[in-house]
Amino acid sequence: MVDIDPGKAVICKKCGKPMNLIVEAEKLSDGTRRITYYYKCSTCGYRLDIEQVFIGMERDAIVVKRVRRLVSS
Ligand SMILES: [Zn+2]
Repeated sequence: MVDIDPGKAVICKKCGKPMNLIVEAEKLSDGTRRITYYYKCSTCGYRLDIEQVFIGMERDAIVVKRVRRLVSS
């Protein structure tokens, strides 16, 4: 499992270098916003998906759905 702790470096399991946390926000065609959290190694490009958050509107309510990826290291 990956521990999201900003004070602790996540090490790339391919090349052993520290990875950067990337937050990416996109707007999907139905208006839902998708926010993706992942670690990316700037040295070899290895990517480790952490979590996706979907934010959408349903009638008058804002619906937030979180999809967690359980990644074994
Ligand atoms: Zn790497």
